[in-house]
Amino acid sequence: MKKIQMVDLVSQYEKIKPEILKSIENVLDNATFINGPAVKSFQNNLEQYLNVKHVIPCANGTDALQIALMALGLEPGDEVITSDFTFAATVEVVKLLKLKPVLVDVDWNNFNISIAAIEKAITPKTKAIIPVHLFGQSADMESLMALAKKHNIALVEDTAQGIGAKYTFKNGETHFAGTIGEIGTTSFFPSKNLGGFGDGGAVFTNDDNLAKIMRSIVNHGMGERYYYDRVGVNSRLDSIQAAVLDIKLTHLDEYIASRQKAAAYYSDFFKDFENVETPVIEDYSTHVFHQYTLKIKGINQFEAQKYLNEKGIPAMIYYPVPLHSQKAYDADQYDDADFKNTNLLCHSVLSLPMHTELEEEQLRFICESLKKYLIK
Ligand SMILES: *Cc1c(COP(=O)(O)O)cnc(C)c1O
Repeated sequence: MKKIQMVDLVSQYEKIKPEILKSIENVLDNATFINGPAVKSFQNNLEQYLNVKHVIPCANGTDALQIALMALGLEPGDEVITSDFTFAATVEVVKLLKLKPVLVDVDWNNFNISIAAIEKAITPKTKAIIPVHLFGQSADMESLMALAKKHNIALVEDTAQGIGAKYTFKNGETHFAGTIGEIGTTSFFPSKNLGGFGDGGAVFTNDDNLAKIMRSIVNHGMGERYYYDRVGVNSRLDSIQAAVLDIKLTHLDEYIASRQKAAAYYSDFFKDFENVETPVIEDYSTHVFHQYTLKIKGINQFEAQKYLNEKGIPAMIYYPVPLHSQKAYDADQYDDADFKNTNLLCHSVLSLPMHTELEEEQLRFICESLKKYLIK
């Protein structure tokens, strides 16, 4: 059996090596390293794939969030509501821009931001909400859109883990996660569902004015060449990354299907275990399984992780500590009792190996090994 990895980027690369090398060679031959045709091509292809008017590439997913918040023209002290159960990047940019992060609890079933908790947290100073499409499933965008409209709040969708997930509204309309709110953001970090060979990211919007502002922000705030309309940043996707991503985008649908197949194997195996909850797939969203995350009851998940590791099976705890109790994010301003679900999730979650190259033999071994631990 091939060695099991949390993410197997080598095997994935081997299958598309000639295409990738040709695409990179093209950039090298033309020495168009910055803002070259490869970037434009990838941008256009991603706009088409996502059915969104504007994709603006940038340097990474954290920058994408920062650029999105900068474009909304928020004032210091404005409140931004986001999820307590996410990667730190989401909340870090809020702090960096001198905005006030307001962390709220998540839904137990789908790990995404709780609509009821947001409703309680909204104040006249709330100017934006950042739902995170965690682990690859869209947040409840229809409810979020209704709330945002009612209170005149902007929605910035953190789609770093959810690219390719499709959200279906009650009227049957379907849109990709990240293209529904004012702005969507994503990351092309190598292990993400659409990953480059280094850092990369992008923002999405259907709003022409926001697109114009964000295009200027990523390029030092420039409007006309050497005329600066605003303070910006330097945040670019380099052409070699774009050349890689343009090829990988043509495989994204197969990659998602492979992840879904592995997830279905796990979920079928663990469906009748009393001490395990398998991921819930909501009717309103497809799940692209950036992570496959079990909830384990009555067993220390760090011990389970250790057991699996000893068997040669990587497993991860995403995330072990809720953001509201982290020193960097004003732990003292929060009431721990408001975070019933994140507190419990941090003691329950266990993410199993998830990538596009998992073989049935590996899946069986992972499942049988964990079973031995769970029912011993
Ligand atoms: C990965 C990730 C980011 C940050 O992306 P980088 O490209 O690493 O900066 C932001 N939010 C979430 C939810 C992520 O998973």
